[in-house]
Amino acid sequence: MSDRENHERRPVLLTRPLAPEVEAFLRSHTDLQVPLEDRPLARSELLARVEGVAGLLAMLTDRIDEEVLEAAGPSLEVVADHAVGYDNVDLAACARRGIVVTNTPDVLTDATADLAWGLILAAARRIAEGDRLVRAHGPWEWSPSFMLGREVTGKTLGIVGLGRIGQAVARRAAGFSMRLLAQSRRPQPETEDALGVVPRELDALLTESDIVTVHVPLAGETRRMFSEKEFRAMKPTAIFVNTSRGPVVDEAALAAALSSGEIAAAGLDVYEREPEVHPALLGLENVVLAPHLGSATVETRLAMGMLAARNLVAVLHGEPPPTPVGSAGE
Ligand code: NAP
Repeated sequence: MSDRENHERRPVLLTRPLAPEVEAFLRSHTDLQVPLEDRPLARSELLARVEGVAGLLAMLTDRIDEEVLEAAGPSLEVVADHAVGYDNVDLAACARRGIVVTNTPDVLTDATADLAWGLILAAARRIAEGDRLVRAHGPWEWSPSFMLGREVTGKTLGIVGLGRIGQAVARRAAGFSMRLLAQSRRPQPETEDALGVVPRELDALLTESDIVTVHVPLAGETRRMFSEKEFRAMKPTAIFVNTSRGPVVDEAALAAALSSGEIAAAGLDVYEREPEVHPALLGLENVVLAPHLGSATVETRLAMGMLAARNLVAVLHGEPPPTPVGSAGE
């Protein structure tokens, strides 16, 4: 490496250890700091470690707000979020300081759509409940009426948020001969036609769907988008699946709808106060609870890490990052 390149290595904080390939790439371009322990940085540690860095590669569990930006100081040029959903980053505060924010779209679309389908099938066919039953070592026996679930094939799938992941979920439905409905914020007739999706307002989608799967980002208008009224509108046989962000769903209202039989079952990957799960949900058999596994495959996590690292290095080199979500002036 030339003296000039060496001179240009700027201090960068990666808040959690990532794959060796990702760290090696960052080390070859930056003066990298990585915590030794693989655990979330305490708030006080984040505030102390971020001081003077030019780049911050953050996890969705790190809240990047005014206080963190203030602690970093004027050297901070880029926050590279290791997620597609950037609700953990205060975009307005970053924009005020001219800090570029990037995320990791596309590379996690398939993994997350697969997980949504895993939850749909697990909830419909009572797979997790059956696993618990077998492990309980109690007596169980096949019978014509034993643990009957709900058929998925031929049913109506309602997709809320027809973005990258919502579309990938729709494509996967092809093998199940389903009728597809989707709620979008704005018309996208070409996408809907290509996918064989019929557009619906949310109220109609909830009333008509056998399975409702949620793929909107967490923002002001989507916070608690699903509460008492929405569950009441759904069929008593309906299955509700959320792989978006926890606060999109009112967990207490969902638990009440599941226990009263207002809806039949649910599959959740994300929670309102992660990693806590509402105690009322923990006691229910008809909800499948995954610990935020949407993008959790070896291949996808490597791709996310590399994309976040490439975003960060591009900004520090004065180049446009591959996937920006917000920057000064936006
Ligand atoms: P995306 O391509 O931006 O899709 C989001 C879609 O939701 C867009 O079509 C957007 O419409 C739409 N939308 C926004 N607000 C809406 C509203 N109020 N009503 C209806 N539709 C609305 O994002 P993505 O890549 O599919 O990811 C979606 C979300 O999934 C992320 O934001 C993230 O929170 C979550 N996620 C979770 C995991 C996990 O591990 N469980 C993994 C990956 C992603 P516009 O185009 O009009 O904005």
